[in-house]
Amino acid sequence: MSQYEKFRAPGLSYLLAPCGSVPVFGPEYFNEDQRMIQQTATDFIVKDVQPHDAALEAKQEGVLPGLLRKAGELGLLAVDVPEEYGGLGGDKTTSNIVAESLVGQGSFMVGHATHTGIGTLPLVYFGTAAQKEQYLPRLASGELLGYYALTEAGSGSDALGAKCRAVLSPDGKEWILNGEKQFITNVGFADVGTVFAKIDGEKFTGFLVELKGPGVSTGAEEHKMGIHGSSTRSLIFEDARIPRANLLGKEGEGHKIAFNILNLGRLKLGLACSGGCKFLIRESALYANQRKQFGIPIAKFHAIKEKLALMAARTFAVESMGYRTTGAIDAIAASIDKKAPDGPDKVVKAIEEFAVEASILKVAGSEALWFCADEGVQIHGGYGFIAEYAVERAYRDCRVNRIFEGTNEINRMLVPGTILKRAMKGQFDLMGALGRIAEEAKDPAKLPSAGTGPLAEEAHVVDLLKRGVLFAANHAVSKHMADLQKQQMLLLAMADMMMEAYAVDSSVARARQIALEQGEVKARIPALLARIYLANAVRTVRQRAEDLLVNVLDDAELTEALEGMHRFLGLYRMKTIPAKVAVADHLLERERYTLA
Ligand SMILES: Cc1cc2nc3c(=O)[nH]c(=O)nc-3n(C[C@H](O)[C@H](O)[C@H](O)COP(=O)(O)OP(=O)(O)OC[C@H]3O[C@@H](n4cnc5c(N)ncnc54)[C@H](O)[C@@H]3O)c2cc1C
Repeated sequence: MSQYEKFRAPGLSYLLAPCGSVPVFGPEYFNEDQRMIQQTATDFIVKDVQPHDAALEAKQEGVLPGLLRKAGELGLLAVDVPEEYGGLGGDKTTSNIVAESLVGQGSFMVGHATHTGIGTLPLVYFGTAAQKEQYLPRLASGELLGYYALTEAGSGSDALGAKCRAVLSPDGKEWILNGEKQFITNVGFADVGTVFAKIDGEKFTGFLVELKGPGVSTGAEEHKMGIHGSSTRSLIFEDARIPRANLLGKEGEGHKIAFNILNLGRLKLGLACSGGCKFLIRESALYANQRKQFGIPIAKFHAIKEKLALMAARTFAVESMGYRTTGAIDAIAASIDKKAPDGPDKVVKAIEEFAVEASILKVAGSEALWFCADEGVQIHGGYGFIAEYAVERAYRDCRVNRIFEGTNEINRMLVPGTILKRAMKGQFDLMGALGRIAEEAKDPAKLPSAGTGPLAEEAHVVDLLKRGVLFAANHAVSKHMADLQKQQMLLLAMADMMMEAYAVDSSVARARQIALEQGEVKARIPALLARIYLANAVRTVRQRAEDLLVNVLDDAELTEALEGMHRFLGLYRMKTIPAKVAVADHLLERERYTLA
């Protein structure tokens, strides 16, 4: 039986199922092989990447590709590649463990994630056997390095608006490519990757393109705010000829590749951000312990402790959502015969089922990392503004995470949009749940009561919070059924609430599970982190829900709706100050993010 079987749950089940009713996967369940590759990746960053920090940031030629090839020698490029093509045939959890561990050097992280994620995965899931044979073994070893070219100067968020064109040559043997891609990572040294172009200016399609030969060139390196050591250039095609066999997937179905690969990229980015948060907690704890002001280490000040505790609570939430999602995907993927002709297609469908969770992770991860970087700089005071300190670079490097892999606005709007689409198609019983919630809002006797055991009160608060989210969102949907897509401020409010719901459901369920399986002593820190996060989330959701209701309802409807909503989003009476102090003391003593 697969390591993941008991974590099997359909996508979006978090919204309707009671908190903790389905086990959630987490780092507690990593197996021996996963712990080994985690250690390999961590050691690689410390021993091989960090010594080249200055050379990387100065864009010294050959340094980043050299490090990527070295990572290839250790198997750190091969996790997602099937064994029959020279890879390790690892699952999504293992692939994300590597992404989460290769942090602390943003430029390397982006180069690695691009190569192993959007650079290699289009071939893994959409390539023919011949294409895989031709490229995958060499991408897995690092002999070839990958890229992914979707964006153009005129089409970023509107990716399908690409102008790049492909036409078949008169003899039918080659595709002739014309156009320019913008902001393409790794392209200063990459060998092969996916380019999206429209066949005859109409059919949006993916192509495997080697960066060599006439008609292929790149622009100059962009001068960026951060990730200075990474390569970002435009990619120019002027009557570039590529073999007819290098069409990827089917003609006119490039959107399937683009969107499914983005889902995977978002998952990876979310967990890479969780790793980045842990790096910043370590840097900040180390600094706070050694820096003295007013005769004592600044670590003793509650103002500093609060920052560290909130950094850790957000990290715990992202980590819990991240591995819960990969575990659920792996549970489904484990029952798929990946060597069967339709194997890759089925895996893609399993991943697509978690598209909402992937968008949530991308947004939550990148914003948690931004928060940790900002507070990390603040903990360092003036030194945080000085280039010698790692937090200064991290602050600049992490900004881009809110922009690429779909901006956080686009990802936010995908959350309610996709949930509603699935509900309309009858893929999950949202309508039934909304009916029950409307009844409960009118009659408190119908509300569920709290269970028993560890974090029972918190699980109950989460279950009510999820009802509050759906209750408020339903009012917006009912009022704006016809033009909801245009009501972006409402969609963003709905997204924020739905994201917080996933964060609290995952954190509380995981902390409760640790308490039940390992005892309350081991669950002390996870429980505190889950509670601290929950206390903030209840306030955020309540504020977003109130704002949404005030905007969509008239005065006569509003009073009753607010009353109903407050039944779900009441006060969570938690003494956060001692909890934050306890968490911060734990982190400061260990000088890193750890639950033990
Ligand atoms: C360092 C770096 C590396 C990159 N690497 C790659 C790569 O390897 N491959 C690749 O293909 N691309 C890459 N990109 C491009 C990146 O994915 C795009 O920049 C991103 O998708 C946003 O597109 P844009 O820059 O055109 O912004 P725009 O789409 O113009 O967006 C501008 C603003 O408008 C908002 N907006 C846009 N549309 C809407 C809408 N419908 N509703 C509401 N708000 C909207 C956005 O959220 C944003 O705030 C990279 C970018 C950078 C900076």
